[in-house]
Amino acid sequence: MAIERTLSIVKPDGVQKNLIGEVYRRFEQAGLRIVAARMIQLGQAQAEAFYAVHRERPFYRDLVSYMISGPVVVQVLEGESAIERNREIMGATDPKKAAKGTIRADFAASIEENVVHGSDGPDTARNEIAFFFAQSDICPRRR
Ligand code: GDP
Repeated sequence: MAIERTLSIVKPDGVQKNLIGEVYRRFEQAGLRIVAARMIQLGQAQAEAFYAVHRERPFYRDLVSYMISGPVVVQVLEGESAIERNREIMGATDPKKAAKGTIRADFAASIEENVVHGSDGPDTARNEIAFFFAQSDICPRRR
């Protein structure tokens, strides 16, 4: 067990449905701390680069269109096992397979429009945090 940081995104459908506060409430209730946050409108090239790992997948174009369809809120979460903890809070990619009480089970419309993103491992977390935030954007908690 270790204190980790992970990258989280409230995706365009989550912002549209006014779920920012609800998503943050779940993070905070689980003991995760938000140490950086920002709302942004992703551009095509930025969304393509963020999801480059899925370039060859059949849903890549749709995924990029969805991610630029409206603003997103990006945040860095910090806490004990933050990467895995966030994945548990989000639930499985496909809301039909997501455990009861998870964000995706409760709010996702489909396997694509699934409200939130969360890094899937330590290397991804490091790269994804650096994709959106400079070191100076991150605010260590002192109290
Ligand atoms: P995640 O780590 O749970 O977000 O899942 P992945 O990394 O596998 O996929 C990234 C994102 O692509 C998902 O969160 C969905 O928004 C989208 N996605 C994944 N699988 C599918 C699919 O089979 N069809 C469509 N249309 N979108 C998908």
